[in-house]
Amino acid sequence: MISIGRELRAEGHRVGLVPTMGALHEGHLSLVDRAVSICDRVVVSVFVNPLQFGPAEDYERYPRDLARDAELAFTRGVDIIFAPAAEEMFPPDFGTYVKIDRIADQLEGASRPGHFVGVATVVAKLFNIVHPNFAFFGRKDAQQSILIKRMVRDLSMDVEVVVCPVVRESDGLAISSRNQYLGSDERLAAVVLRRALERCRTLYNAGERDSARLINAMKSVLGTEPLARVDYVAITDTLNLRALDFISADTPALVSMAVGIGETRLIDNIVLSGDL
Ligand code: AMP
Repeated sequence: MISIGRELRAEGHRVGLVPTMGALHEGHLSLVDRAVSICDRVVVSVFVNPLQFGPAEDYERYPRDLARDAELAFTRGVDIIFAPAAEEMFPPDFGTYVKIDRIADQLEGASRPGHFVGVATVVAKLFNIVHPNFAFFGRKDAQQSILIKRMVRDLSMDVEVVVCPVVRESDGLAISSRNQYLGSDERLAAVVLRRALERCRTLYNAGERDSARLINAMKSVLGTEPLARVDYVAITDTLNLRALDFISADTPALVSMAVGIGETRLIDNIVLSGDL
């Protein structure tokens, strides 16, 4: 069995794991920086996980450049890169999956059936291989962070999940490996996600608490961009991802969206009245 962190942990090191699919950018590296600041041994996994891609999705064309990733990660203080082959993680007779009820079926889960079984299974496996004290995830993928926290709680896993803020380009677009797919017109159009979320925050700051009105306002901002196709815009709680009719001061509200820009599907979110 592959094992990476067990000995480090036995020697008393605080081991941090940053799971990624590679094509590292400043979003990933912000998780690395946080890990380096908390842990004395940091492992970055680079694995384009076939289990979490749907049949019509971009598994084959997903950007891969391990040499560049390793250089970036080592320069930022990472100790170990774990980049297994797909067959090593999932041999042909692999057949054990982690399925998280209900919250995995909402939002991204509703649009991408099976996606979160793939995510939870690979993350559980990475936890067993690396034995991290801390694992770092980005709020960019808010539902994923919420799900991993739930998996850790439900399955009594010995790891602390740290959720880090969204890192953005200077015009506000959340950094993502998939931004590389955008043509130049699409790249300009993609800022509309951020503009819609900012509209929501402005209305919220002005006292609006009615989710339907906030969602409509975001959809009308998205509607101004001809290249944008809304998949969903939702306002939910941050524990169970149930739709909230109204936002209250004492319940953090996740405002999340998935929007197609041309052929590329982008997600973004903000949290009102608290954090994840
Ligand atoms: P990925 O390689 O897309 O699977 O992402 C690996 C980790 O990096 C996940 O926990 C993501 O949420 C996180 N991440 C990706 N983009 C960003 C970003 N712009 N800001 C913060 N975290 C991010």
